[in-house]
Amino acid sequence: MARSFPAAVDVAIVGSGPTGAAYARILSERLPEATIAMFEVGPLLADPPGLHVKNIADDAARARAQRGSEGLHPHTVVAGERSYADPSRRVVRPGTFLLPESPDPADGAGMPALAMSANVGGMGAHWTCACPVPGESERIGFLPELDDWLREAQRILGVNPDPFAGAPFADVVRERLAAEFDRDRAPGRRIAPMPLAVTVHDDGSLAWSGPDVVFGAVTRSNPRFELFAEAQVQRVLVEDGRAVGVRVLDRQSGEAHEVRARAVVVAADALRTPQLLFASEVRPEALGRYLNDQPQIVFAVRLDGVDDAEVDHRRAAEDGTIVEQGGVSWVPFTDREPFHGQVMQLDASPIPLVDEDEPAPGTIVGLGWFCAKDLRPEDRLEFSPTRLDEWGLPAVAVHYGLTERDHATIDAAQAAIRRAAGALGRPIGDAPLVLAPGASLHYQGTTRMGAHDDGTSVCGPTSQVWGVDGLYVAGNNVIPTPIACNPTLTSVALAVGGARDIAARLGAQLVSDTEGGRSA
Ligand SMILES: Cc1cc2nc3c(=O)[nH]c(=O)nc-3n(C[C@H](O)[C@H](O)[C@H](O)COP(=O)(O)OP(=O)(O)OC[C@H]3O[C@@H](n4cnc5c(N)ncnc54)[C@H](O)[C@@H]3O)c2cc1C
Repeated sequence: MARSFPAAVDVAIVGSGPTGAAYARILSERLPEATIAMFEVGPLLADPPGLHVKNIADDAARARAQRGSEGLHPHTVVAGERSYADPSRRVVRPGTFLLPESPDPADGAGMPALAMSANVGGMGAHWTCACPVPGESERIGFLPELDDWLREAQRILGVNPDPFAGAPFADVVRERLAAEFDRDRAPGRRIAPMPLAVTVHDDGSLAWSGPDVVFGAVTRSNPRFELFAEAQVQRVLVEDGRAVGVRVLDRQSGEAHEVRARAVVVAADALRTPQLLFASEVRPEALGRYLNDQPQIVFAVRLDGVDDAEVDHRRAAEDGTIVEQGGVSWVPFTDREPFHGQVMQLDASPIPLVDEDEPAPGTIVGLGWFCAKDLRPEDRLEFSPTRLDEWGLPAVAVHYGLTERDHATIDAAQAAIRRAAGALGRPIGDAPLVLAPGASLHYQGTTRMGAHDDGTSVCGPTSQVWGVDGLYVAGNNVIPTPIACNPTLTSVALAVGGARDIAARLGAQLVSDTEGGRSA
């Protein structure tokens, strides 16, 4: 039986990743009388919706969930299903997929590793959960409420400031890094445990936060909230400078529906959010521009001088992702050293770099450094006014390059990662590896926020698109500063600000509707 879509709601949310989920959560808490429909192009993977796939204990079920997130040509191998993997070409992480027309990294052009996910939970069902707080020039200076919003983001993501406090080598790692890096760093910018969105249960088991945690019980039990999976928004409806709803394709039945709404939130990632605005003929000058992928460098090291005998008493990483031996450490961004470092057990690092014989668990650590990008309008997504992609939305071309300043930052980051490796122990391999553009999975800027509508931004401080009343954008794409740290905490914080704005405006509207109804 075909499912039924509502004719009208108060708020339509496009995309079910952490930032779309943040809107649903804050609205459910602040304005429970509002009706909310969330549309997600990808399938439902698990119960509760948005569960992090790392929490799925069964290997085959987890692989199936990863595959289910990989769009039209999935690559994760599952028995009996065709895999579209092309290992000779590019790095692509389980649960994500690349633009079909992305260039080969060997060409040195564009953004070969630009990736996305299509599933309930978005990339938030697959992420590493690192939630550092932005600092110094990473911060958005024109937002007086930023710290309050960041605290709210930590609450709804379930961020734990030091989940692996008992990890046997965490102190060793941090003491060595601190000796190398902490001189001249301000408090809050010194070597620290990496805050992670993870819950450590009393028995030591871990529950990684996906959008299920962001939704929380309050959203799941909200009778006025409804989530539609496999429902692709094809267009935001705009009339007389106001967003008035969305056109949705039910990918289960093939039928299209119009859903009217008083506010529309597009939280469809840094590529598909500007794409949908373009398809809806909302095309401000800055749309798709200032594309920011943090250049990423990785290296590995074998920890020196740790007691191998002690290791034998500890539990090894069992699923390739647990980081309890060495913890996860954070080298914060500073203006003087404009990169962000995370140091963790190599098994948890995105790219396996070494093939050593049975290293003692936790004694090999991976170092991942992300650089702040030199922002330019010409680094951009270009949408075709005539050609459609395989999802039926405007085809995308990526224009992206590194400036001299970027190369200088990358050189400095390589020197810093070597220093870090040297301080920790014996580096593995000759040189750090600079990954192909797009590998960070932290794309920002393409619907950036600004203090004023001066042509360099798409939305204002509450995430509302300039000139289109009731249309909000969410995601890393809203971040206007060249942040180097993992961006999800910041983009969820900006979503908190946007959701509070909708709650305040809609609350006033609902009150005046009720009063109008009473006096009519
Ligand atoms: C392996 C991995 C590790 C990561 N590690 C970290 C980390 O440690 N820290 C960190 O900060 N970040 C990390 N990230 C990035 C993080 O996952 C993203 O920053 C975050 O998920 C962005 O949230 P979002 O809600 O903006 O977008 P997404 O999570 O990408 O969700 C967007 C959703 O919108 C849907 N959508 C798109 N178009 C439409 C449409 N037209 N109609 C309906 N639905 C649509 C998509 O299918 C998708 O589900 C990692 C990502 C990956 C894959």
